[in-house]
Amino acid sequence: MTSEFVYAQPVKIFFGAGKFARLGAVLEELGIERAVLCCGRHFAPEAEMLMAADGRIRAVFSRVEQNPQLSGIEETVRLCREQQAQAVIGIGGGSSLDTAKCAAAVAPNPGEALDYYEGRRALDAGSRLTILAVPTTAGTGSEVTQVSVVSHGKEKKTINNPAFMPSAAIVDPELTLGVPPRTTMNTGLDAMAHALEGYWSKNHQPIPDLMAVEAVRLILENLERAFRNGGDLEARSRLSYAALLGGLSFALPKTAASHACSYPLSEDYHLPHGEACAFTLDSLVRINADGRLEELCRRVGLAGTEELAERIRALKELGGLRSRLSELGEVDLPKLCRDCAAHPLMQNNPVPLDEEKLREMFEALR
Ligand code: NAD
Repeated sequence: MTSEFVYAQPVKIFFGAGKFARLGAVLEELGIERAVLCCGRHFAPEAEMLMAADGRIRAVFSRVEQNPQLSGIEETVRLCREQQAQAVIGIGGGSSLDTAKCAAAVAPNPGEALDYYEGRRALDAGSRLTILAVPTTAGTGSEVTQVSVVSHGKEKKTINNPAFMPSAAIVDPELTLGVPPRTTMNTGLDAMAHALEGYWSKNHQPIPDLMAVEAVRLILENLERAFRNGGDLEARSRLSYAALLGGLSFALPKTAASHACSYPLSEDYHLPHGEACAFTLDSLVRINADGRLEELCRRVGLAGTEELAERIRALKELGGLRSRLSELGEVDLPKLCRDCAAHPLMQNNPVPLDEEKLREMFEALR
């Protein structure tokens, strides 16, 4: 065990099937009288109904896209300012939560989201709207992190700032019942990547480590089940809990090589985030295999790291996720390796991976 660490987790979490019905009570507890709701198209009809039923929800932005664009954040900021909102409620996958988090951090301050994105202005955790995060996928863990991933044109940037930390999260597995099978697999493997990367990050810590082990166990036991039967509330509940634990596993230690590689894979080859993380995850289980990872495998009932890598590969195959370079179209391998190696998260990987080592890894995935 590490002899010294600093652990903090500031988000109040309301977890359980049906908990979303308590949205009004949570707004009351937070003292919110004027809020803007931000979501993706799948939730747009419900969002309109919520606004009609609760006068505290003053406006809805329901056009969040996957890999959310800065333009959606600007629009949510505009609504917040127009309505003098005290809070932003993000309901959806990571894209909606990240849009809500950014908008809340920018809205009460001078300037536009682009000024903060480009670093001309600095975010301030002491000056932001309240953030209430309600995930409808079991994947990103964004409801418990101070990370927001934003795209501007083709560029996709991770911004890590205390101003993005939600005040509260409602994690209701019933909201995930309608997630299509392929997105279930993508997001479930994203949660697996969070847990494994938090665990093997150079900055790993004892408390997140415990959560990582439990997240990996729950995902291995329930992801195939939820993929095959999306209406299985028990499997969905366990995955929502696992995704929450996954978020807590990496919130402080940060992620590593699989996330570093996911950025060029999303930007240049348009893989959804979870699929992009999963692309290299089984390879990295083999590369990062050490005594600690063997220990995790034993604790989740596996014989060892080889079995873990094989289970991840099989889940990708079951979900129809791309896992070979030949499935990505024309690949510029030197650029891919250069961009992966240069990503700051690569520094957290326990095994140093330079362009040459990454080339070896990707060559094996041709
Ligand atoms: P997503 O939010 O992009 O959603 C994927 C698709 O599923 C969308 O079309 C969405 O409308 C739909 N959807 C969501 N919930 C649904 C439901 N219940 N029923 C039917 N359809 C539903 O996907 P995601 O994987 O949750 O989030 C990915 C984004 O989050 C990426 O931008 C990624 O970089 C970011 N991310 C952020 C963090 C963080 O800590 N902030 C961590 C990991 C990933």
